[in-house]
Amino acid sequence: MKQVLKTSLSALSLAAAMAVPAGVAQAAQQFVTIGTGGVTGVYYAAGGAICRLVNKDRSAHGIRCSVESTGGSVFNINTIRAGELDFGVAQSDWQYHAAKGTSKFEKEGAFKELRAVFSVHPEPFTVVARKEVAAKSFNDLLGKRFNVGNPGSGTRASLDVLLGAMGKSVSDFSLASELKADEHGAALCDNKIDGFYYGVGHPSANIQDPITTCGARLVPLTGPAVDKLVAENPFYAKVDIPGGLYAGHAEPTPTYGVVATFVSSTKTPDDVVYTVVKSVFENFDSFKKLHPAFANLEPKDMIKNGLSAPLHPGAVKYYKEKGWM
Ligand code: GLU
Repeated sequence: MKQVLKTSLSALSLAAAMAVPAGVAQAAQQFVTIGTGGVTGVYYAAGGAICRLVNKDRSAHGIRCSVESTGGSVFNINTIRAGELDFGVAQSDWQYHAAKGTSKFEKEGAFKELRAVFSVHPEPFTVVARKEVAAKSFNDLLGKRFNVGNPGSGTRASLDVLLGAMGKSVSDFSLASELKADEHGAALCDNKIDGFYYGVGHPSANIQDPITTCGARLVPLTGPAVDKLVAENPFYAKVDIPGGLYAGHAEPTPTYGVVATFVSSTKTPDDVVYTVVKSVFENFDSFKKLHPAFANLEPKDMIKNGLSAPLHPGAVKYYKEKGWM
């Protein structure tokens, strides 16, 4: 009896002893989630790189960062707005329209609480076609089976804008599939589609795959509609997909594009944003090594390029400390 009592007492005190520090740790632990894109794209890698650097010092700041694979830019912005994501990666064109309540965001109105954190890699709009199509330009893919991208992706939203500027629509393709970026390479090589469109950093695994698997070709994206879009919109620029990144593409491929940006909202506390930003920039050499698309990033560009929403105060605090602002 005595023995039993002793055991249960010590079990109780052990439980009590464990409960205190666990309780304290739990109170200090904060979870943040970053919305990204398909797992074979660059957003997923960017979110993963950011979280890896945040989580490295978790014992010091108590933030546990995780990434979610999502439909892409427009989904991420809408889900941050709904308060269900803390951060997200989004194309600069859709950050702009969300901040201003224009284009696809006209119905919802301006997302006034949207905050920019920093920009990441350039995202040239990338047209890929089966080699049998021998496409010389994007126009050669009209009337063909084309993947226009999944709803919620920035890719799909930007393609709609391009088609609009050309006086065309998705019905100008013989088939307009809405596959996710993770699926478009296999669909192309299986001869289910003739081409696809994707706004993505380079090199990207899901562009590389169809190029190496079935000799798919990058297709130039130029012409009067692109000229007009670039002239009229601050978030577009003419860019080349650099030569030498993909087999059989030693020469650059001309196109136009945006930049990937990292965004949040006023709902995400300043100290959380500060810690996330600090984790990235204090470990910037490691960050750049986590994906080849990050190799040429420069902090001074990242704190201004492609950002149209106001900067988050937590980010501003760090940039001022560094003397960057
Ligand atoms: N820019 C793409 C989109 O928002 C996603 C690219 C990626 O996942 O790397 O649709």
